[in-house]
Amino acid sequence: MKLDASNVKFLSPEDYRVLTALEVGSRNHEVVPTTLIASLSKFRPGGVQKIMSNLCRQKLCNRENNHSYEGYRLAYGGYDYLALRTFAARETLTSVGYQIGMGKESDIFLGADDQNSALVLKLQRLGRTSFRSVRNNRDYAGGGKKAASASWMYLSRLAAQKEWAFMCALHERGFPVPKPVDHNRHCVVMGLVQGRILDHIQKEDLVSEESMEDPSLIDAAISWLYSELMNLILRLAEHGLIHGDFNEFNLIWEPPNKTSCPMGRIVIIDFPQMVSTRHPNAKFYFDRDVQCIRSFFERRFGFIADDAPDFETDVQRLVELDKELKASGFDKKARDDDLINVVGAKDNADESEEEEGSENEEDNEENSEEEEETSETDNETDEEEDSSDNDELEN
Ligand code: ADP
Ligand code: MG
Repeated sequence: MKLDASNVKFLSPEDYRVLTALEVGSRNHEVVPTTLIASLSKFRPGGVQKIMSNLCRQKLCNRENNHSYEGYRLAYGGYDYLALRTFAARETLTSVGYQIGMGKESDIFLGADDQNSALVLKLQRLGRTSFRSVRNNRDYAGGGKKAASASWMYLSRLAAQKEWAFMCALHERGFPVPKPVDHNRHCVVMGLVQGRILDHIQKEDLVSEESMEDPSLIDAAISWLYSELMNLILRLAEHGLIHGDFNEFNLIWEPPNKTSCPMGRIVIIDFPQMVSTRHPNAKFYFDRDVQCIRSFFERRFGFIADDAPDFETDVQRLVELDKELKASGFDKKARDDDLINVVGAKDNADESEEEEGSENEEDNEENSEEEEETSETDNETDEEEDSSDNDELEN
């Protein structure tokens, strides 16, 4: 999806006020009635319509006619705009460059601050592929009524919140993760890692040019890298955490000349799906992370490791980061309440969900919208967070 950062400069304060009103209204209405936007923004309905058509032209929202009332739906473009404007006001991210990644559930852009430090902007896009599978795959919504009221905005914001919380906590404890810079709504801003994802690395890349002719040095570098990665999986587990997607696409290798480490350095990215080592399926996720690395090393480097960490015997719980961060599965009560049951559903549910077709997805989306209207209190935490962004409406 295209991100048009130029809008940030060109929208008027009135446009911003109306867009913010649309965001506030979106908490309980997927399609926000024009009358509600007017009352929230304190503009006359006629004035609102004029502004809304300008916002629609800029693809920040969409007009909806197929409801019993006339209204507008906030688009990702509008939500992006609101987050970018917040970053610009805080001067944490002042320019956005080209797109460097596009996953099923996120868009990644290069960016910079006023000092021209290279940054990365990650925008969560949950709900882009399949609303229903998103809802079942992640435990962000917490289950029950809240799950039913989950919307793309809500889920994307929770994913970014999780990413931010994990990244900050891991960075603070000296884990090799990008430097967290800022977070708002569905977006996280972080430092740019100057390296290449592990998937783009061949064995010759691991050693200097002079060492390329010496197979024993290449073997030593491969075996060093393997132990580094296994140690990272173990260290995370000692902190009560399992990455849950520890693979060659979420690991960036910084070569020695970019860092002071003589062998280079691995940086871990992509944290929204992290789970606690107390999660009922913790052993499964831990083993899967280990296996991903083993298979990659075998495939790419022909390296078959003699040993690998074992969840039951090798993991010593030293720090309760999972508890501090409320990582999925960290406490038994939360687990019992958790009707959705995490990423765990992913492997079993993904295929069947996708096969069911888009009709059901639509139905679910409609249902969730109805429930949203009746479950205002469930979204209290979001509202607290949003209220700071929406101050202008109150003034
Ligand atoms: P997704 O959830 O879509 O998998 P990721 O966080 O894994 O998103 O990022 C996708 C891609 O974007 C990565 O594979 C990497 O190439 C790039 N990327 C993400 N964060 C950074 C970063 N901080 N520095 C450099 N590249 C990054
Ligand atoms: Mg990823």
